[in-house]
Amino acid sequence: MLLTITTTQCPATDLGYLLHKHPDRFQSFEMSFGKAHVFYPEVREDQCSACLLLDVDPVGMVRRQGRNRNQNFLLGHYVNDRPYVASSFMSVAISQVFGTAMGGRCKDRPELVGTPIPLTARIDVLPVKGGEEFLRQVFEPLGYTIEATRHTLDEQFPEWGKSPYFSVSISGTKTLSELLTHLYVLIPVFDNNKHYFVGEDELEKLLSKGAGWLASHPEKEQISRRYLKHRHSLFREALARLVEPDDPGEEDGDASEAIEDALERPLSLNDQRHGAVLAELRASGAREVLDLGCGEGKLLRELLSDRQFERIVGMDVSVRALENAVRRLKFDRLPERQAERLNLIHGSLIYRDKRLEGFDAAALVEVIEHLDAPRLAAMERVVFEFARPATVVVTTPNQEYNVMWETLPAGQFRHSDHRFEWTRNEFQQWAGQVADRFGYSVRFLPVGPEDEKVGAPTQMGVFNVVTSQNHSGSQDERKHD
Ligand code: SAH
Repeated sequence: MLLTITTTQCPATDLGYLLHKHPDRFQSFEMSFGKAHVFYPEVREDQCSACLLLDVDPVGMVRRQGRNRNQNFLLGHYVNDRPYVASSFMSVAISQVFGTAMGGRCKDRPELVGTPIPLTARIDVLPVKGGEEFLRQVFEPLGYTIEATRHTLDEQFPEWGKSPYFSVSISGTKTLSELLTHLYVLIPVFDNNKHYFVGEDELEKLLSKGAGWLASHPEKEQISRRYLKHRHSLFREALARLVEPDDPGEEDGDASEAIEDALERPLSLNDQRHGAVLAELRASGAREVLDLGCGEGKLLRELLSDRQFERIVGMDVSVRALENAVRRLKFDRLPERQAERLNLIHGSLIYRDKRLEGFDAAALVEVIEHLDAPRLAAMERVVFEFARPATVVVTTPNQEYNVMWETLPAGQFRHSDHRFEWTRNEFQQWAGQVADRFGYSVRFLPVGPEDEKVGAPTQMGVFNVVTSQNHSGSQDERKHD
């Protein structure tokens, strides 16, 4: 079982840095199923290839399973195609031997990692259920060109016909991390005959490795179904959570946040906003609350100091923001009774998440404007359809008020990461439509000093559930008159 990765990007020998494997060395690694070897059959400035060769030991695997496993002698345990064909063992080897490269890390040459380069991966031999057409359906939408040669079952007996085995080359201009991630997920999909137990773990792996490409892939259903070995409950959960094209990545907004803060400081608008949100959460009678996109935890601090809130969960997509929240809240020094009420979780509002279910209320304070249109649509379902708290409080800038900021050039947003800033009318239309679709009512309140013409700097929508209709799990587009 052989995977060969080739680049022609000059100097091609950079492949050694990217893979974290020195081109001059032959290296071997012990795997649970045998051995993996890495070597470079060609190392030139204009072309460099690295091979990952698996030496699978099927008999050793049967023996190592020990006494408690199936003791029946099965010929298939000893005589099979495992040593020769690329399968889920190849994925395991990719993640163990090229894990750093797949994760997109390169200590010595960090600038190389993010650069798409011409790459070809050749897989000898891939069993493809579904034939060449399926190969194309899977790789072409990801931007690869494909060359596939189907092998005959036995060259000496051509009348036996074709085998299900292919030699496949895929080529594209990709980062190495993308290529390895695609191979990691897709090789077992072709094999369709996994040699491992498929549980929650595999679902999480599929979603994390599929971030950014799987949700928008036309074959996402087939890929997920096969990857999860036709376990229907996991497959359904995968599809429910693959609601959006890609992951937003981490916020990287220190500088722009500082600008936004400075702009708003004279009004201490931030404090007024949190005060207004807190008042709504208190009035709703909520005991269990979510702060979605909690950032560095300013609202969490307020929530903690009010005993009405018995369970508080802050979620953010940015690990750095969460780390800052832990520091600012002095989380590790909080009295036990307070610490028990608060939980910080890493997650994204664009993926359905069971951890968000069962709460009375949720706040999204200055978060929606960070989501572009498809992500906003995904968030609507994640919050209003699946998490479905009785009360949802949403704040967002009022674009009309921007003319009041003397330091903000006309037409510019308050924060460089804002994808939009809405007028009051735009916000009310969006909120009204969301409320209507998901069975909520919504009312609007201004936050901050109100100007007669342009309104207040921040606008707030307070959603209350009006129907107990169970919206969760449905995939249809409901129609409302
Ligand atoms: N609510 C906080 C922070 C607002 S800044 C406050 O009032 O101070 C917007 C926050 O939304 C950032 O912390 C950002 O990391 C987070 N965010 C952006 N996209 C997100 C997503 N898809 N899921 C969860 N959080 C997200």
